[in-house]
Amino acid sequence: MRILVVEDDAALGDGLARALRAQNFAVDVATDGEDGAHLGETERYDAAVLDIGLPKRDGIAVLRGWRAAGRDLPVLILTARDGWSEKVEGFKAGADDYLTKPFRIEEVVMRLRALVRRAAGHASARVVCGPLAFDAQLGTFELDGLPLKLTAFEWRVLSQLMLRREVVVERADLIERVYEGDADVDSNSIEVIVGRLRRKIGATLIETVRGRGYRLTADGWT
Ligand code: CA
Repeated sequence: MRILVVEDDAALGDGLARALRAQNFAVDVATDGEDGAHLGETERYDAAVLDIGLPKRDGIAVLRGWRAAGRDLPVLILTARDGWSEKVEGFKAGADDYLTKPFRIEEVVMRLRALVRRAAGHASARVVCGPLAFDAQLGTFELDGLPLKLTAFEWRVLSQLMLRREVVVERADLIERVYEGDADVDSNSIEVIVGRLRRKIGATLIETVRGRGYRLTADGWT
């Protein structure tokens, strides 16, 4: 999963990025409204954390721009302590959730996971596919009831496939949601990650759909 953080307070932005990466998310950080607006319009993210008070373009204008351009990613806005009117304006502009500063980073992580899960159409936190179970609220996987250890890249790929299980996830879409904006992406690196996942979870669960992408399926599993 890939998250966009738009925050001009460098310490806060870096802290958020570090905490989200520690939870396996890919993170891009923008430090002003113009840069944030551009990234949100041109790159694919699973969710965005958007500060309202930003240089060059404020967060409300950024959000209106994304929604006007048809970008439907879940957006969590960050507002000032006494910013009730910012919250109202934020929701009017298309925000999905808000947090008031100061906040605990753990709360951002939990809210983002809930937003991503609901945007993928899962009311329940537990997503199951054959022997594989994903707790979308804790970010943990189980295989046959036992904890499954994954690298950050493996987690990013498998969580995408899991949230959209039984559906083909296009290869280009998967690449966009696995790598950070400044990553140097090798042309076959997704295949390498999928190969490693198959060795961990069994070869039949991830189906290659030629010319399109991958599908996580319990079809071949009994
Ligand atoms: Ca700010």
